[in-house]
Amino acid sequence: MNLKNLSASQIHAIDQAHVWHPYSSLSQPLPTYHVTSAKGVRLQLGDGRELIDGMSSWWCAIHGYNHPQLNEAVTTQLTKMSHVMFGGIIHEPAAQLAQRLVDITPEPLNKVFFSDSGSVSVEIAMKMALQFWQAKGRAEKNRLLTLRKGYHGDTFAAMSVCDPETGMHHLFSEVLHPQVFSESPRCRFDEAWQPDYLADFEHQLINHKEQLAAVILEPIVQGAGGMHFYSVDYLKGVRALCDEHDVLLIADEIATGFGRTGKLFACEWAGISPDIMCVGKSLTGGYMTLAATLCNERVSDGIGESEAGVFMHGPTFMANPLACAVANASIELLLASDWQGNIARIEAQLKDQLAPCKAHGTVADVRVLGAIGVVEMNDAVDVAALQKSFVEAGVWIRPFAKLVYVMPAFNIEAADLSSLTAAIVEVLNPG
Ligand SMILES: *Cc1c(COP(=O)(O)O)cnc(C)c1O
Repeated sequence: MNLKNLSASQIHAIDQAHVWHPYSSLSQPLPTYHVTSAKGVRLQLGDGRELIDGMSSWWCAIHGYNHPQLNEAVTTQLTKMSHVMFGGIIHEPAAQLAQRLVDITPEPLNKVFFSDSGSVSVEIAMKMALQFWQAKGRAEKNRLLTLRKGYHGDTFAAMSVCDPETGMHHLFSEVLHPQVFSESPRCRFDEAWQPDYLADFEHQLINHKEQLAAVILEPIVQGAGGMHFYSVDYLKGVRALCDEHDVLLIADEIATGFGRTGKLFACEWAGISPDIMCVGKSLTGGYMTLAATLCNERVSDGIGESEAGVFMHGPTFMANPLACAVANASIELLLASDWQGNIARIEAQLKDQLAPCKAHGTVADVRVLGAIGVVEMNDAVDVAALQKSFVEAGVWIRPFAKLVYVMPAFNIEAADLSSLTAAIVEVLNPG
């Protein structure tokens, strides 16, 4: 086959025959949509249609697509070098990004390990915690305590701390390290706090503390495990209990980082600092894959005293210069913008315009935090059918399980956001 200038039908034929998509079956492939370009909050389809994007490509494209400043950062770096190994080498984009991350993340996180994806940054965080306790002569502290309904990625160690049900632990039970689970926080973000909300967590922590290296959780927003927003007091309580019982705290800010919830990092809601923190997703404004694991000096000093003496990790594409350059540009762009004003505006509009969904008999809950709007249905939705309706309504919204949700670019205009919310209201309540 001549692969130059493929027609749309040739692209679809290759796709159906050979290409895996996330959580897909090649025996019964679901429809895919052919995107030819993207600009701002618009995706251009091969058939000429244009869709307003509600997903930011899964939390990532916070400034929209094809942004002149981000394009410029990539092309400028490209003319210098696209990649160089990180063993024994430093380059300006990595130094700038490390300093920026140290400056904007909660004190005293000040050591940075770069990696290629969110899941890998979680693996690294877990390995840091394990090596830390090995150094203290406490190698038996090698398990993690985490929350049900959590999501931390798809690699094996990350999977071991995902929700045991939606994370499909039974499929891999023989190979997953058995971790400790506490119930998912029952308190909603805006709900009055009651101390017994933390009781199960405290119970699990105290019961297993001799074996626990760390607690890992998504601060304030549990993302792919159910889009649940929980109380600031819960997170404060977790930090206090970790301190009291000498267990490290890992915050997975891969989805929440860089402003999405209304704070630069969701830990700021509780005024806490984790011992180890993972960032990814919107780190590069959605341009390239890059993640980082930060830790405080207590952790890095500990690892330095461990038997290995070094931290045992080193990805081939660690601190890729192109990715670091665009991450620097994305963070600069974010901090130079009125991002808090934008998030507040999006939040108010989502609250107002998604509220009518509450009246639908099929809707269980509507919730909004920052630039995240969620409509939870009573039952799992037919993703392919709903997706088709959304495309016909001119928007790109991809539901999963019982959840129809949007997390638009921070610079989305009010009229475009209205198109997203109108499509949700209409598609969920036809006729
Ligand atoms: C997406 C996500 C991950 C995994 O990141 P990948 O880049 O997909 O490997 C981990 N944790 C959270 C909270 C996420 O949202």
